[in-house]
Amino acid sequence: MKKVTGPTDHVVIVGAGLGGLSTALRLAGAGRKVTVVERESVPGGRNGLLIKDGYSFDTGPTVLTMPDLIEDALACVGETLKDWLELIPLDPLYRAFYHDGSTLDVHADTHAMQAEIEKTIGSSEAIGYGKYVDFVTKLYKYEMKDFIDRNIDSPLNLITPNLAKLVALGGMRKLAPKVNQFLKDPRTQKVYSFQAMYAGVSPQQALAIYAVIAYMDSVNGVFFPKGGMHAVPRALAGAAEKHGVEFKYNSTVTSIEHSGGRARAVITDTGERIECDVVVLNPDLPIAWKELLGREPKKVKALNYSPSCVTLLVGTEKKYDRLAHHNIHFGQSWDGVFDELITQKKLMSDPSFLVTIPTHDDPGLAPAGKSSYYILFPTPNLDADIDWKKQGSLYRDQMLRTMEARGYTDFASSIEVEQMTTPLDWQAQGMERGAPFASAHTFFQTGPFRPSNMAAGFENVVFVGSGTQPGVGVPMVLISGRLAAERIVGSVK
Ligand SMILES: Cc1cc2nc3c(=O)[nH]c(=O)nc-3n(C[C@H](O)[C@H](O)[C@H](O)COP(=O)(O)OP(=O)(O)OC[C@H]3O[C@@H](n4cnc5c(N)ncnc54)[C@H](O)[C@@H]3O)c2cc1C
Repeated sequence: MKKVTGPTDHVVIVGAGLGGLSTALRLAGAGRKVTVVERESVPGGRNGLLIKDGYSFDTGPTVLTMPDLIEDALACVGETLKDWLELIPLDPLYRAFYHDGSTLDVHADTHAMQAEIEKTIGSSEAIGYGKYVDFVTKLYKYEMKDFIDRNIDSPLNLITPNLAKLVALGGMRKLAPKVNQFLKDPRTQKVYSFQAMYAGVSPQQALAIYAVIAYMDSVNGVFFPKGGMHAVPRALAGAAEKHGVEFKYNSTVTSIEHSGGRARAVITDTGERIECDVVVLNPDLPIAWKELLGREPKKVKALNYSPSCVTLLVGTEKKYDRLAHHNIHFGQSWDGVFDELITQKKLMSDPSFLVTIPTHDDPGLAPAGKSSYYILFPTPNLDADIDWKKQGSLYRDQMLRTMEARGYTDFASSIEVEQMTTPLDWQAQGMERGAPFASAHTFFQTGPFRPSNMAAGFENVVFVGSGTQPGVGVPMVLISGRLAAERIVGSVK
């Protein structure tokens, strides 16, 4: 494994996103002096928090999976998750609503899910689901150790006994036909392949190995931290601080001072110069290259980006009995949704969208008796020809009309507080092409083909976060923190 060279006593981490925090904990555990420089006043980055008129809204991730990775990061400094976070296992994980009026509750427990499928769809589909679980469980087992949870310097590193097992399992076939081999009903096909959207690829184009994402949430379970998702970065930062990590908030890094291929110091907008032995960069990778390292490698320039999204955060006293914590509303169109978002780069004509209601499990996140709604509609990224300055408010109205048509009666007129975020806003927050889900996980942008976490041309600059390996989402980014730390200090397991 390639590592940084020279001294590693003092590491400066730029950014307190989940990636930066995960690195900080592991380096602190390995006895390094760590300074985290964060432009905002709080940790978390995309895992952000908005406090407005008595509501606490999460602004980014809402679906928390694989909490053992949080436990793992905390364990590096001898802390345990239960001392820092109260995690509520969600059941159902999701409630899926379909265009024909039917619903399906998604459970992590295989028998409970089989019973649900048998009741709603039929017994042969329930048997198929059992086989599907077996398939994704094997995928996870074969992929995690060899292909996700380690630094991969060359495609040759992929040649392991588990690669042969993945090929034999059908992991290199396309995702949609592989899922359809087990699941015959469009409702189960949708609910066990929509996760491809997180990876920025369509189930028709993605390889079946990406079904591992469905394992991570729909089979392994979805959790909700009391206090909201932002409790996760708060916990990680709190534990890091307790173990000696220094945080400098409200401080934007404007450049990296370097000479002879080595970073020497980071310079902030307050004029501070912080000398260091190693720099870890958590800002979006293409932006970090352009703005902090002063160039953009060809490979980075050529990346394709995932679709983006519009989020609408709403505070209201309106409640609907039929809703769960996470609600996915599928349109009739399925292949068409991915085709519009990814290939045609236009807004969905028959939307599928997510409505999360954090107050379902933590009423304290809103004023007494009120509810908060987190509404996410996937959209194309800024490669599309959409003028969000003009389109933004029109799309907001369209989102609300779609919701009302799908059963959110009188929702629009009940809104007391709202906050909308468009791809243009994601771009303003430092995300290339306004794509909060980073570069897409196409085959040639995954594993050793994804931008490396070692900055080429520098001996001591390491990337962490969703733009580098292994990829996007809370679990991957937490892993990326360990991979970054290993580039500096060797194994931190
Ligand atoms: C709307 C939305 C919904 C999502 N839903 C889910 C979900 O349900 N489940 C899931 O697993 N994932 C989800 N994700 C993805 C997940 O949130 C991200 O992959 C992950 O949080 C990215 O973490 P990161 O550490 O890579 O980057 P970031 O969170 O972007 O962290 C980068 C940090 O660097 C700081 N920074 C940037 N530039 C500078 C500078 N010059 N100086 C100092 N500091 C700087 C930023 O302020 C930020 O704190 C979602 C993301 C979004 C936006």
